[in-house]
Amino acid sequence: MIFTKVCIIGAGPAGAAAALQLNKDGIDCIVVDKAIFPRDKVCGDGLSGKVITALKRIDPEIADRLQSAAFKLDSYGVSFVSPGRHQLEVGFRPDFDKNNVAHKEVPIGYVCKRIDFDHFLVQEMKQCKHIEVMEGIKIEKYTLEADGYLVSGSNGFEVKAELIIIANGAHSSFTKDVAGIHMEPAHYLAGIRAYYKNVSGTSTDGFIELHFLKKMLPGYFWIFPLPNGEANVGVGLLSEVVSRKKVNLKKELQDIIQNDPVIKERFKNAELMGSVDGYGLPLGSKKRTLSGERYMLTGDAAFLIDPFTGEGIGNAFYSGRMAAQQASLAIQANDYTATGLARYDSEIDRVLGSELRLSHRLQKLNKYPWLFNMLFKIGTSNKQVKELLSCMFYEVDVRKKLTKPSFYLKLLFNR
Ligand SMILES: Cc1cc2nc3c(=O)[nH]c(=O)nc-3n(C[C@H](O)[C@H](O)[C@H](O)COP(=O)(O)OP(=O)(O)OC[C@H]3O[C@@H](n4cnc5c(N)ncnc54)[C@H](O)[C@@H]3O)c2cc1C
Repeated sequence: MIFTKVCIIGAGPAGAAAALQLNKDGIDCIVVDKAIFPRDKVCGDGLSGKVITALKRIDPEIADRLQSAAFKLDSYGVSFVSPGRHQLEVGFRPDFDKNNVAHKEVPIGYVCKRIDFDHFLVQEMKQCKHIEVMEGIKIEKYTLEADGYLVSGSNGFEVKAELIIIANGAHSSFTKDVAGIHMEPAHYLAGIRAYYKNVSGTSTDGFIELHFLKKMLPGYFWIFPLPNGEANVGVGLLSEVVSRKKVNLKKELQDIIQNDPVIKERFKNAELMGSVDGYGLPLGSKKRTLSGERYMLTGDAAFLIDPFTGEGIGNAFYSGRMAAQQASLAIQANDYTATGLARYDSEIDRVLGSELRLSHRLQKLNKYPWLFNMLFKIGTSNKQVKELLSCMFYEVDVRKKLTKPSFYLKLLFNR
């Protein structure tokens, strides 16, 4: 049996962020994953500014290496299409340096296949003195003992850790069986993803496209451009709606691509690459307890995906890093009690809580196509609304405005 301070289950973004932060703090850890990297993960492949921000905080050199990697496409904005087909292109807010000078040449977002991004992270972990990455081992059992967690899995794997960080994604058995957090259709999104080649009309500035098609509300159809003329194409819809309306997402995706009057033209010469795959998105639209005796949940295993944008990689990074910081404190104090680790929950709530709550309110507005039409229609001719939507992805205060009825009244009457 192996002994370690911290065992991290899952080497995706949440697990990688936790391990890299622990390495920075000089704490030994083992990261174990059932997959052998490079491995695919069903995702939209959109990396928001949050990812690079968190990475810079963990290690600016890794962030630099990501910024110069060839496997990603720089993305400078989002193109929204309302149910009434009003198209609104908004550039991401430019990066500001400490003198408040904007650097428009620095992209804030990226699009890159998870097979490449996650492999990049694993390679980074393998270079680190305090991280041991163990691939191809599926963790099957967790036993809480007096002196630590006994974690066991395939190939006779056994590790005893003082603390465990759960980062094994949306289908985590630990989340369900030990933390008691279950999938609730009202707080869960179903997503389908396909890779296409030769989709026409994609932006040269790597703008990601979100189409709020009437038939897909409260969800959306997306086209995210990738390097080499490829694109990540998919749909996401609240699981509650999927089961209530008996929606077959794969059929819906094909229907949009083949029959939507605007979209079908863009897919005339497009070619599907590989299979169409689906996966769940556990949303952070409800507050849960994310820690307990000798454990902390991170990323999708902690249900932290933004309910409005469907973005989960950034929050996986943030929570992974926060769990590692809390782990350092617990090790220093030799306190692994549920009460001691509850500080992790307070931190998650402090950093991500208000943002998640606001996004939940915005997600509910998704039900009203007329509101979207109005906002996007006005946005095409109103610079202020455009800037506001551009900031929406980064500034919580701006999102707050969008949830207030007075904001829409002002828009209507002050044009
Ligand atoms: C269709 C779809 C589109 C999405 N689009 C976007 C997007 O564009 N942008 C964005 O930011 N987010 C997006 N997301 C969300 C994003 O994919 C997740 O939030 C993100 O992957 C969470 O990272 P994680 O590290 O918590 O989990 P994961 O990335 O799922 O990693 C978990 C790891 O744990 C391993 N594992 C699982 N079980 C075990 C086990 N028993 N033993 C050992 N290892 C195990 C897995 O092999 C995996 O490597 C999307 C999700 C879906 C489904």
